[in-house]
Amino acid sequence: MRKKIVAGNWKMNTLVFEGESLAAQVVAKSNEVSGVSLVLAPPFTHLSSVAAGLKTSSVALSAQNCATEDSGAYTGEVSAAMLASVGVQYCILGHSERREYYGETDETLNKKLAVCFKNNLIPIFCVGEKLDERESNRHFEVVKAQLENTLCKLSESDYEKVVVAYEPVWAIGTGKTASPEQAQEMHAFIRKTLAAKFGDKAEATPILYGGSCKPSNAKDIFSKNDVDGGLIGGASLVADDFIAIAKSF
Ligand code: PEP
Repeated sequence: MRKKIVAGNWKMNTLVFEGESLAAQVVAKSNEVSGVSLVLAPPFTHLSSVAAGLKTSSVALSAQNCATEDSGAYTGEVSAAMLASVGVQYCILGHSERREYYGETDETLNKKLAVCFKNNLIPIFCVGEKLDERESNRHFEVVKAQLENTLCKLSESDYEKVVVAYEPVWAIGTGKTASPEQAQEMHAFIRKTLAAKFGDKAEATPILYGGSCKPSNAKDIFSKNDVDGGLIGGASLVADDFIAIAKSF
């Protein structure tokens, strides 16, 4: 059975004391969830103290990004080694907001994948098409290129560690969700594309759905065969909603 994961991407929200409290609320309710790994991705400034709060729980910690380089004169950047040193286990890479606002390219992402593996961070690698790409029926082509230029270039041993998140850009923070059928169709396509390179190993890859996922729609989306969990933005800022989503399996 594939690993089920529900990860909360807090983005640039909460002050440190609010983040500590949110994490504590998730930890307090995490025993209501079984068979699903919970992951929290707070901002960089919160990682150390949230790590301390998660220590005795099964809730894992993720960063939202990392630097391409190992160390050195890169003002404002945070390296994968620094993240690992405070207890971070996962790192979101290639989120559409990073691609769109910070110019992340496949080349940037390949460097970030490499530093994550070097520091034993599990990448949660985001792919997804924009609205005009879906409307012009290019969504499969776009996602295929995103995968072939990055994950498909990994060694098998690195690939085995990857978590993929399908996040249609038109569904992120918009309140519009992909229908369960649209999600399943793309998740199956992602798995097929990865299987063309990695064979049976793609069967074990968790593929999460992200995009306006909430307690009211999670059950239908998660009921689909190739949907192995969710990357949750807005709804992850409310502990009850985040836990309710994780209980939707
Ligand atoms: C995200 O940004 O990863 C996301 C899925 O956001 P939201 O759930 O708010 O659409």
